[in-house]
Amino acid sequence: MTHTDYTKNILNIKDDNIYFYENCLENVKINNTVTKIFRGYLTYTPEFCPKCGCVNEGFDDIIKWNWKKNCKIKLPKVSNYNTLLILDKQRFYCKHCHSTFTASTNIVKFRKQISINTRTSVILDLMNKGSELEIAKRNNISTNSVNRILHDISQDKLIKNNGLLPTSFGIDEFSATKDTISRMAFIIVNHSSKRIFDINNSRKSIDIEHYFKRYSKQERDKVEFITMDLYKPYYILMHKLFRNATIVPDRFHIVIQFRNALDKTRIQLCKKSNKNYNKFKKYWKLILKCEDDLDTSTQFYSHYFRKYVTEDYIITYLINTNHELFVTYNYYQGLLKSLRNRDKNKFFSIIDNPSSDISIYAKKCNKTLLDMKKYLANAFDYDFSNGIVEGTNNVIKQIKHTAYGYRKFSHLKARIMLIKGLFNPLAA
Ligand SMILES: [Zn+2]
Repeated sequence: MTHTDYTKNILNIKDDNIYFYENCLENVKINNTVTKIFRGYLTYTPEFCPKCGCVNEGFDDIIKWNWKKNCKIKLPKVSNYNTLLILDKQRFYCKHCHSTFTASTNIVKFRKQISINTRTSVILDLMNKGSELEIAKRNNISTNSVNRILHDISQDKLIKNNGLLPTSFGIDEFSATKDTISRMAFIIVNHSSKRIFDINNSRKSIDIEHYFKRYSKQERDKVEFITMDLYKPYYILMHKLFRNATIVPDRFHIVIQFRNALDKTRIQLCKKSNKNYNKFKKYWKLILKCEDDLDTSTQFYSHYFRKYVTEDYIITYLINTNHELFVTYNYYQGLLKSLRNRDKNKFFSIIDNPSSDISIYAKKCNKTLLDMKKYLANAFDYDFSNGIVEGTNNVIKQIKHTAYGYRKFSHLKARIMLIKGLFNPLAA
C-alpha cells in the first residue's frame, strides 16, 4: 500500500485519480481551531474534450496544461478535528478548439466546496433531532450550507402518491411556518402503519377538498374510519368526500376542549389581587390532573403554603376558594373520568345537564360538545389510539423548537419526513 492508498482509506476517498503528496498532512490553526490539512492532486488522461467533444487519442488532441492550485474541499472530521483537503487540479488544453478545462472528481459536486462525504454526514445528522446550528458545527460548515442541503432535499418528491389512501387515518392541524395560509398546516396520519401519510401546507376546506379529490372516488369510498378534531366544517367536508367513512372525534382533542375551559377559568383567578395568585399559577398542572391520580399520602414542603402538604390537600384548598372554579372543576373531572372509563351515558348526562354555575368558558365548551353530540358517541364506540396524532404533534413541536423556527414550509416538511424516517435521500 502506498501512502496515497492509506490516506484515501482514512479519508474514505474513492476517486482513483486523486494522489497525495509525500508529507501530505499538516496541522494548521484556522480561526483558533486545529485543522488537519491534507494536500493532494488530481490528474488523469481525459477521454474527450468537454467543450468540443473530440476524442482524445494522443498528444495531437488534448495535452496537460498547468494546474488549478489549492482548491479547498471540506471533508468530514477526522478524530474530531476539522479536516480540509487542498487539491491541485490538473488543467487540460484541447488543440482542436483551443479551450482549456479542469479535471473533475466525484468526491465533490461541480463548483462546490463541500465534499459528498460531508454532505452525506449532514444528511445523516438531519435525520436526527438537533438544530441546524449544531449540525453545522459538527460538520465544520456554515448553517447556510446545512440549510441549502435541506433545501435540496425539500425539492425532491418526498411523498410518492401511488393513488392509494389508507382505509383508516387521522387528520389534524398544527401551527407551521409563515409561508403557510394562516400559519397552519394539515397532517394526515395512517392509523394502521402509525406513520405520517402526508403533510399539506393548507388547512383551508377548499384546499383539503382539492387535496383528497386527487384520489379516485372508488379509492375514497374504501375509507372506513377518519379521526379528527372537533371542528364542524371538517366533518361536513369529510362526509362529502368519504361517503362510507365513520368519523370519530379524537379523544385527545375532546379532552383538550374541556381542559382549555378549566384552564381559562383558572387563569381568570390568576389576578394579582387574588391572595392565592401564586398558588393558582404554580399548581396549574395539578388542577388539570385527573383527581383519581392525585397523591393523597406523600407529603412535601410547599413554599406557597409554608407547610407540608399533599397534592390532594392543595386541590381541595384551591377549588374551595372560588365557587365557579369548584363547579367547573367537577364538570371537568366528570367528563374526564367518563371518557377514561368509556362511560358514554355518564358523559352525555353531564353535557345534557351542566350546572348553571360553570364558568363562561365551560359553557362555551359545552355548547361545542352538544353541537357535535352525534359524533361524540363514536369516540366511545370505536377504539382508536389518540397517541399517534398526539405523538406526531409533539415531534413536530420539538423539531420546530430545536430548529428555532423554520421559515419555509417545504423545509419543515422535509425535516419532519427525515426525522420520522419517511424519506431517505441516501437510499438510491
Ligand atoms: Zn476541444
